[in-house]
Amino acid sequence: MSLVKTYHKYVSVVLEISLNKALAYGVPDELISQIQKGMKVSVPVRGRLQTGYIIDIMEEPGFEKVLPITKVHEQVVIEKDLFELGLWMAKYYGAPLRNIFKVMLPSSVRKEAKHKEQLYVMRGQTREQLRELCIELRKKSPGQAQILDGMLNVKKGILLTELLELTNGTRSQVKSLVKKGALVMDIVRVDRSPLVNEDYFRTSPKELNHEQQHAHDKILTSLLQNRFQTHLIFGITGSGKTEIYLQAIDVALKRGQGSIMMVPEISLTTQMIERFRSRFEGSIAILHYRLSQGERFDEWKRVQSGEAKIVIGPRSAIFSPVQNLGLIIVDEEHEQTYKQTEESPYYNARDVAVMRGKFTDSTVILGSATPSLESYYNAEEGKYLLSSLNNRADTAQLPEVKIIDMKHEYEKAKGYTIFSDALLSGIKSRWEKGEQSLLFLNRRGFHTSMICQKCREPLHCHHCDVALTFHKGTHLLKCHLCGYELYPPKHCPQCGDESVLKFKGVGTEQVQKALHAIFPDIRTVRVDADTTKHKGSHQKLLREFSSGKADVLIGTQMIAKGLHFPQVTLVGVLNSDGALNIPDFRAAESVFQIITQVAGRSGRGVSKGEVILQSAMPENATIQLAATQNYLDFYREELAVREIFQYPPFTHIAKMTFSGTDCQKVLRIAEAFRHELIKNLPSNFEILPVVPSGYAKVKDRYRYQFIIKGNNIYYLTEKYHLISHNFSKSGIRFNLDIDTSSTYF
Ligand code: ADP
Ligand code: ZN
Repeated sequence: MSLVKTYHKYVSVVLEISLNKALAYGVPDELISQIQKGMKVSVPVRGRLQTGYIIDIMEEPGFEKVLPITKVHEQVVIEKDLFELGLWMAKYYGAPLRNIFKVMLPSSVRKEAKHKEQLYVMRGQTREQLRELCIELRKKSPGQAQILDGMLNVKKGILLTELLELTNGTRSQVKSLVKKGALVMDIVRVDRSPLVNEDYFRTSPKELNHEQQHAHDKILTSLLQNRFQTHLIFGITGSGKTEIYLQAIDVALKRGQGSIMMVPEISLTTQMIERFRSRFEGSIAILHYRLSQGERFDEWKRVQSGEAKIVIGPRSAIFSPVQNLGLIIVDEEHEQTYKQTEESPYYNARDVAVMRGKFTDSTVILGSATPSLESYYNAEEGKYLLSSLNNRADTAQLPEVKIIDMKHEYEKAKGYTIFSDALLSGIKSRWEKGEQSLLFLNRRGFHTSMICQKCREPLHCHHCDVALTFHKGTHLLKCHLCGYELYPPKHCPQCGDESVLKFKGVGTEQVQKALHAIFPDIRTVRVDADTTKHKGSHQKLLREFSSGKADVLIGTQMIAKGLHFPQVTLVGVLNSDGALNIPDFRAAESVFQIITQVAGRSGRGVSKGEVILQSAMPENATIQLAATQNYLDFYREELAVREIFQYPPFTHIAKMTFSGTDCQKVLRIAEAFRHELIKNLPSNFEILPVVPSGYAKVKDRYRYQFIIKGNNIYYLTEKYHLISHNFSKSGIRFNLDIDTSSTYF
């Protein structure tokens, strides 16, 4: 039976709401010229209008009796390459398309927010005529005359709001003048560009040094051929990576190609923005979470229209509708903030960047002083092209690093102390010389673990290379990877000492208070999540510090990256081992990364810098390697551990998390789901046991999880989809996090 064709064209549409399946609709003739893939449309679903996106355009309906689409939203289109990327993400991450389109389009764009429009006033007659009118009105309506005075002084025109402010006039006075024909009013679009009010100086490209030139040449080989290639720039802090990015972007720009420059949100500082602005002026769009809806919409439109050819932003900037994309850069590629962990899709923007590069034949540059093990491994395997920068680009020397054994300090102080003597005298001498210090506190590592007071080793799982976590509720030590449990022992299993104790971290506020108590005259600035809640406060605090209004900067992760303070000659890392106690396969990697990053903040000016690492485990291999700042040694050591325990880069890992209010039921469903996966996946997938999540209860919901190791992610995702149908009515929330950033939380 052949189908009756009621329409000339048909489309397949995925809805923004709950359905994952695409539905077919007919396209009325008058809409045919407007439709394209990726466009938002309104369609009837069970008698109601719903919105969705066209994922396919067809000549045949596939089945009879399709309904017509009701409306096309021409303003909202997902570009072709992004659409393809979205489909890949759905397949790889196993996330519904609607979630993916949601991150691809800012909500202001999805809702088709209007540009901010303002009234603009101009003269409707010659200056001479206005002067005459002004004399006439002076007595009768002095307000109107005053407005005319104002208008006689402006060049071409002025925003109504500004005019009213300038002349103390009212809207109705302006309106009467418009009625008289003396003035005209027009609606103009005002760009809410977050950059407009900032000063900058034009700078020119620096002459590249040998190492930089070498990296640059390699990048050009793929860029000039429009060939997809991922480059890894492994360069110590200050080695001139950013200069390479700037020059590569410049090459792309001159060839008419667009670029995306991704940075972790916290390094999106004024310093960084100014540096880009000084090279490229108006071609830049900047996206970050502190933009208002309207600002975000404007920046997005400037990118889509091709006015802005360079986008700088964090994670979601990878979805910018850049025209004729040629270059994608991921700075600090190892950063875990590139991974979306709060909601589906749980994508890693660095990996998505590489895929987008592939779909658009773009050159991709990943840069880091401490590349992720995955990326460096990919470079060694020849998947990425490696360029190493081993020297600082400017005259600054690498700082000297000292490890302070906090065990001695605790003995001396007869108990816990935040500061070692060496650090205190260091801070004091810097202050006396008018130099600055930076104190860094690793915010992670706040949970309780058990540490032997004598050998300072945290209690470890017998089966995994992770520390055990103390659970207050059950009074048990538990391994979060394999589920192993242990009653807190009376004696340390390592050295037999009796002084096993619970250990918890300290906060930045405590550090500030303690320092003030010791040195009341030393001025401090604290930068952490609490002091930077307001828009601009982060920048303001940093500016205060860089202009010398404080002697010591105290902070968390937020101060570790990308900042350039030439006056800082001492960096103190208060608890360099804090995060090592987190039972996570990435713990050592992230401790090494953060120490290296923060050490790089010292001695960026003419004076040589010093770094003091306070540690209760000074013999720990990661601390030792971080002190030498030798990434390659660390890489080899850690890679060997990853191979033994089969973690990335040797396999992919995924995490399934379950949550609900009924603890037993959550556990039961998690076990049942795991069982189904074991039945459906081949034996080269390894599925670890169900364990409580690192945060076992969040907002009255109990959380359980298990880890899946395997290489064929697409296969896992596919099976997951099939199985999840059977559990969709269980009342238990669950999700799959592919390439999870943490095996613990
Ligand atoms: P990274 O991004 O690797 O930390 P940057 O690109 O910020 O390094 O460079 C560090 C400092 O060295 C900056 O002040 C930068 O202006 C300067 N610099 C970079 N490349 C050169 C160069 N080729 N010649 C002189 N100075 C340079
Ligand atoms: Zn274990």
